[in-house]
Amino acid sequence: MSKMPVLFVGHGSPMNAIEDNEYSRTWKEIGKMLPKPKAIIAISAHWFTRGTKIMNEQNPITIYDMYGFPQELYQVKYDTPGSPELANLVSKLISKETKFDNSWGIDHGTWSVLVHMFPNRDVPVFQISVDAFASPEQHYNIGQELAVLREQGVLIFATGNIVHNLRLVDWHQKNKGFDWAYEFDDFIYKNIICYHHQEILKYNDQGAIARLSVPTPDHFSPLLYALGATSKLDKIKVFNKSCELGSLTMTSYLWE
Ligand code: ZN
Repeated sequence: MSKMPVLFVGHGSPMNAIEDNEYSRTWKEIGKMLPKPKAIIAISAHWFTRGTKIMNEQNPITIYDMYGFPQELYQVKYDTPGSPELANLVSKLISKETKFDNSWGIDHGTWSVLVHMFPNRDVPVFQISVDAFASPEQHYNIGQELAVLREQGVLIFATGNIVHNLRLVDWHQKNKGFDWAYEFDDFIYKNIICYHHQEILKYNDQGAIARLSVPTPDHFSPLLYALGATSKLDKIKVFNKSCELGSLTMTSYLWE
């Protein structure tokens, strides 16, 4: 079996789940291009916890962890099976302390993208949480420890946004961003392309552009899991490289 790709997807607004736009169309195309995984491990910005949690249910529920959207969005179901066996293996692969936890479900960071990428809902999906207290290196290490699963047909799917500052969202900038948003997104882009992961782990050294782009680490950290699972042998595809509403970048990466 050939090695499965690794994905980091900028998910943006939950509305992408039900809208036909350039982002959701690209997700559909990527889904058609990918080999069918045996299972998907999702690392979602929206499961941001104290410590690392692993979901090990047979049938995880779809959860609606967002407020004030049209009713249609709360009717989306992403009802795939989970994978308790694989969750068990993941808990063994991660050297850091982890706990099984089924108080969460498949959240919108995951389903808003997967409804387009894997619409058939026939691939088992489960999530691991982003530890709010872990260092960038610890997130990256977990990615490295999970990399071996790529040889077993498992897709490592990280979902967040590289630039994500909701407080500074500017509704007048429909498909545009602030200068600092482009600057930080480009800093990450250049270092991903050159495989300078150490520079990315030290993103805070970038000062103001990093503080504005990553005011809290929830949406940024999933990228570090994806990076950890990649190798220099992977070819990198960049998609949806753009900025929305001033302070959200949709830039996404596929390593294969
Ligand atoms: Zn989000």
